[in-house]
Amino acid sequence: MSEQLAIVRAAIARAAAIARRDPAEITLIAVSKTRTVDEIAPLIAAGQRVFGENRVQEAEDKWPALRDADRGLSLHLVGQLQSNKAAAAIALFDAIHSVDRPSLVDALGNAMARSDRRPDCFVQVNIGAEPQKGGVAIAELPALLERVRAAGLPLAGLMCVPPAEVEPAPYFALLAKLAREHGVAGLSMGMSGDVETAVMLGATHVRVGTALFGARR
Ligand SMILES: *Cc1c(COP(=O)(O)O)cnc(C)c1O
Repeated sequence: MSEQLAIVRAAIARAAAIARRDPAEITLIAVSKTRTVDEIAPLIAAGQRVFGENRVQEAEDKWPALRDADRGLSLHLVGQLQSNKAAAAIALFDAIHSVDRPSLVDALGNAMARSDRRPDCFVQVNIGAEPQKGGVAIAELPALLERVRAAGLPLAGLMCVPPAEVEPAPYFALLAKLAREHGVAGLSMGMSGDVETAVMLGATHVRVGTALFGARR
């Protein structure tokens, strides 16, 4: 197994043990944005099956060949999605972590109605109320969740990217509280720098790039 993969898995297992959680409840998404097929292949060979990309076009360029070679791979979109790419995203991804506005909910609903594909949807919350970041404002979350449910999207969870350079735990705890309040099961939170904290606070999906692949160029 790749050494980095073993290290990340061990960190998840350690945090799960402290929180008395079953590590099998936690999905490790290897975020492979900017990485080449040659960089990704060793991780697949080491047993990693779930990957994340942040651009539809880049994923369309890289993944069809990798998936033809290994049918068991699952691909998650972790970056912002334009409504006009909803159909392309549904065709390619098994989960979408960036559902954050009514127009996108409608576009995904329409695209799913015309497709036999139903990727898991995570509603991204702008948990630190940062103007430059994607995600629905906390005040608008109830209405957006209602719209997601009315549109029949498979609602898998909430997702967040907390503010950089500050302690992330309060933001993870807040996302978990919002998920509880709204009856949402999944929590997509935790990146290379804060995986263990996220797992201790209930993450069901962690999105890890740098710790698996090294620093991005
Ligand atoms: C790039 C990215 C990650 C992975 O970040 P690392 O710090 O490299 O682990 C996770 N989530 C999102 C939304 C990303 O864009």
